[in-house]
Amino acid sequence: MATETHCPYCSLQCGMRLTGRRTPEVSAWEEFPVNRGALCRKGWAAAGLYGGRERLTSPLVRDRGTGEWSAVSWDDALDRFVAGIRAAQAAKGPDGVAVFGGGGLTNEKAYALGKLARVALGTSQIDYNGRWCMSSAASAGIRAFGVDRGLPFPLADVEEADVLVLVGSNLAETMPPAARHLDRLRERGGRVVVIDPRRTPTAERADLHLQPVPGTDLPLALGVLHLLVAAGAVDEAYLAERVTGWEPVRESVAAWWPERVERVTGVEATEVRALTDMLGASPRVMVLTARGAEQHSTGSDTVLGWINVALALGMVGRRGAGYGCLTGQGNGQGGREHGQKADQLPGYRRIDDPAARAHVAGVWGVDPDSLPGPGRSAYELLDALGTPDGPSALLVLGSNIVVSAPRATHVTSRLEALDLLVVCDVVMSETAALADVVLPVTQWAEETGTMTNLEGRVVLRQRAITPPSGVRSDLEVIAAIADRLGSTASFPTDPEEVFVELGRASAGGPADYSAITYDRIRAEQGVFWGGERLFAESFAHPDGRARMLAVEHRGAAEQPCADYPVHLTTGRVLAQYQSGAQTRRVRSLPDEGPFVELHPQLAGRLGVATGEPVRVATRRGEMTAPARVVATIRPDTVFVPFHWVGANRLTNDALDPASRMPEFKVCAARLTPVEEVAQRPSRDPVTHA
Ligand code: SF4
Repeated sequence: MATETHCPYCSLQCGMRLTGRRTPEVSAWEEFPVNRGALCRKGWAAAGLYGGRERLTSPLVRDRGTGEWSAVSWDDALDRFVAGIRAAQAAKGPDGVAVFGGGGLTNEKAYALGKLARVALGTSQIDYNGRWCMSSAASAGIRAFGVDRGLPFPLADVEEADVLVLVGSNLAETMPPAARHLDRLRERGGRVVVIDPRRTPTAERADLHLQPVPGTDLPLALGVLHLLVAAGAVDEAYLAERVTGWEPVRESVAAWWPERVERVTGVEATEVRALTDMLGASPRVMVLTARGAEQHSTGSDTVLGWINVALALGMVGRRGAGYGCLTGQGNGQGGREHGQKADQLPGYRRIDDPAARAHVAGVWGVDPDSLPGPGRSAYELLDALGTPDGPSALLVLGSNIVVSAPRATHVTSRLEALDLLVVCDVVMSETAALADVVLPVTQWAEETGTMTNLEGRVVLRQRAITPPSGVRSDLEVIAAIADRLGSTASFPTDPEEVFVELGRASAGGPADYSAITYDRIRAEQGVFWGGERLFAESFAHPDGRARMLAVEHRGAAEQPCADYPVHLTTGRVLAQYQSGAQTRRVRSLPDEGPFVELHPQLAGRLGVATGEPVRVATRRGEMTAPARVVATIRPDTVFVPFHWVGANRLTNDALDPASRMPEFKVCAARLTPVEEVAQRPSRDPVTHA
């Protein structure tokens, strides 16, 4: 009999059916409304997660002297872990231990991990890799609308827009089943605008493609709003009735005339005017941002700039229009709602809110005063590891930090400085390889749990196959640690029981799951928290009005210079997912390895052809990969995919002041043909700090 479940990868959480108890077979689940049976090649190949010989089935400990791994019993591994926790906390207090989660963990795991940190470990030092994915949009959404739900409407509403503006999204390549909405929109006569430094497969489908300099999506938004004001296209009645803060925003865009926008962004003034004319004349405009706009040290302000455009047009809350963020990670939405963020308690409650602390402490059966306060954000937490003031022990669940962290060489050195690193994983990932203890856990179809997709739809991944003997679920690992630490709070291991408790802890919070049950999810094919469509009547601020906030263009933290003359940007390819820890091991998916995409003009100056090795260097590190010469990228920009070790050795750890998002999407780089490198290595000024 087939089990109805969801893809192990991205935030679309496509429905699929699985058959087979040991090795699953994937088939279409046509009735599931998000993807109607369609899957991308990663989804069709998902069963390949179970074909490899690399699966870990026994706890492992590493001898630091010899580097040798030994298989040990679960009791021995957990005892060693707990002894390390006690030693770290005896030396440094409760914050001597840190926890790092992931945006791919189920809601139940994210919730249990936050509870483990705050109740059993008593540490404030917990954050997760979703901080690096959607946090700028989340921060902007909370400030503008009073709540963060990536899409405040079903994704299918895209088809009803007259103009869809995609800012920094390569939808057609990152979540292909969603691209059908773009086709249907255009069949209806609607138009698609793509803003991206690369002419991606998504841009190929667009009616208008603007190719700004990386890091300049905000001045483009400011220029668009300037022209909308000049054209009298602003919906003043909507702003008067539903929005606060319009006048300062109007003044802030006064100086962003199109020619200035062209100088800053590289987008011709005529194109800025063409976009604005299109927006001003359309009854339903939808703006969606994604990582291209958000993964910057100015990401929150950039999102606010585009929200201001949508609000000024009176679009937010109107069906087939408005603003949304296209979340990336599988449980990027739910993962940021239930307590694995440094500043947060379940239900998207703030950890510094006394009423929130009292409510959650009541559910957990502990004194509110015993809960720690806010901790460090993801990058800041990793940067502090092993320092005199930072944690000396770390537990990692669902994250491959060595590949996915910015300034990865430095972060790796921080991991190596720990007294104890414990990693729960299914394979020996690059991060697990650095650990002292590796705990083998169940994955995807071997376990049940909920995910919240990019629309805020809570879906149920159901256990379909039997896990190998020797592995435990993350919930069992969390419960075992809490038990060994003598925690008096309960840590259930049954996912449905955890979900019921999560519902109680989230009740009354901004993301309230208390009315959602596993039975409802099964019966309704997913349940939206907060309702299917938000903002039709009011926003989530106490006065019901949205906030417009004036934002200024600051530019990328690092600009090209004589030593590092080009922009480097990073991103994804179709066949791989995030750090590649899963997809690089699926044999039926092509593992092409990293490459350096560059324009023929730049390639000509360097004397590099497609396939020839080229070295990319930034102030933080370097990598060498084959060149891929394409005319679809800006001549001043190079692109490197981040699924393999290398790209994030280059990226900048400059943080957005509001979201603490690192600047993955732009930094200054230098390219050198490898033959030239060999001739003058001693003059290489690149640092590896
Ligand atoms: Fe769907 Fe994303 Fe899975 Fe592809 S990776 S099948 S788009 S959920």
